[in-house]
Amino acid sequence: MADAVVAALAATVEGEVLAGEPLARHTTLRVGGPAAALVRAQTPQDLVAVARVCAEHDRPWLIVGRGSNLLVADAGWPGVAVILGRGFRGVAVAGGADQALGAAVLVTAGAAEPMPVLATTVARQRLGGLAFGVAIPGSLGGAVRMNAGAHGHELSEVLVDAEVVRLRDGGAVERLRATDLQMRYRRTALPADAVVVRATLRLRRTDAEKLAADMAEMRQWRRTHQPINEPSCGSVFRNPEGDSAGRLIESAGMKHHRVGGAAVSAVHANFITVGSGARADDVHTVIADVRRAVLAKHGVRLDTEVVLAGFDGTGKPS
Ligand SMILES: Cc1cc2nc3c(=O)[nH]c(=O)nc-3n(C[C@H](O)[C@H](O)[C@H](O)COP(=O)(O)OP(=O)(O)OC[C@H]3O[C@@H](n4cnc5c(N)ncnc54)[C@H](O)[C@@H]3O)c2cc1C
Repeated sequence: MADAVVAALAATVEGEVLAGEPLARHTTLRVGGPAAALVRAQTPQDLVAVARVCAEHDRPWLIVGRGSNLLVADAGWPGVAVILGRGFRGVAVAGGADQALGAAVLVTAGAAEPMPVLATTVARQRLGGLAFGVAIPGSLGGAVRMNAGAHGHELSEVLVDAEVVRLRDGGAVERLRATDLQMRYRRTALPADAVVVRATLRLRRTDAEKLAADMAEMRQWRRTHQPINEPSCGSVFRNPEGDSAGRLIESAGMKHHRVGGAAVSAVHANFITVGSGARADDVHTVIADVRRAVLAKHGVRLDTEVVLAGFDGTGKPS
C-alpha cells in the first residue's frame, strides 16, 4: 500500500519523493518515526498531485515547514509528509527604496523562506516590522499557521494575505486575507488543509541602524534566556492568559524533570530539550507529566503550542 502511494507520487510530482523517510531528520527536536512517503514539493502542481494521491489512497497528509514546532510520534506518520522546496522561496519588494521613513511597503515572500533569513533580507532593505522573526527558526508558512511572534510582536501585525493551496479541494488555490484568519496568540483559523505557498506582508521603511541594533539585541536575549544549542521545539505550551507557562511549570517543581532522553530545560522551563537516544515518547511523557503537575498545583490546564502528529493513531495532527 505504501509502495503504491510512493509510486503514484513519483509518477506525478516534480520534486523529490522519499519512501519511509525518518521525520526526525526534519524536526528541530530530532525525534519521530518515518513518513510512509515524503514529498519535497517544488510547484503548486506538486501539491495538487499530493492532494489527489492522498484522496485516491485514503492517506493523511502532514505539512512540514522547518519542523520547529512539531513532535512526530515514534511510530511515524502513516501518510504523506509534504515539505515545500526551493520552488517556494523568494522575496519580492514592491516599489523603489527611496520612500520616506514610515512609508508602507508590500513584501511578498515564498512560504518556504526561513523566518530569520526573511527578517534579515527585509532589514537590509530598511524595512521594519519583522525584526522579531530573526530568532524564530520556522518558515514563513509555519509562522502564518502559528501566528508566530516574539518580543511583543507577532505576524498578524504585518500579514496582509496568504496564498494557499487547499489539499481537500483537489488543490484549489485561494488568497486568504489576514483579517479572515482570526489571528490570535499562537493560533489562526487557517483551514487544516490549506498549505500556505506565499504571503504578503506590509512593512515600513525604517532606520537601518536601529533595526540592526534591535535584531542584535533579540539574538543576544535568546542566547541568554533560551537553550538554543540543544534540540527543542521552542515553547512547548501556550502561555495561559495573564501568566507564563514557564513560571507555572517551575513553581510546580517540574524544572529538570526528565524521562529517558527528554527533560524540562534548566534554562527555560517552557522548553523541553532532548539528548542523544531520546524518543518522541520521552518528550510526550514529559509533556503529560508537566500538564498533570501544573493542574494539580495551580488548577491550570496547559495547552500545547507544539503540534503533535501521529500520536492518536488517526494520522491527524493536533
Ligand atoms: C529554539 C526555538 C525557538 C522558538 N521561538 C519561537 C518564538 O519566539 N515565537 C514563536 O512563535 N515560535 C517559536 N518557536 C516555534 C516555531 O519556530 C514556530 O511555531 C514556527 O512558526 C513554526 O514554523 P515551522 O515552519 O517550523 O513549522 P512546523 O513546525 O514545520 O509546523 C508547525 C505547524 O505549521 C504547519 N505548517 C508548516 N508549514 C506550513 C505551510 N506552508 N502551510 C500551512 N501550514 C504549515 C504544520 O503543518 C504544523 O501544523 C521556536 C522554536 C524553536 C525550536
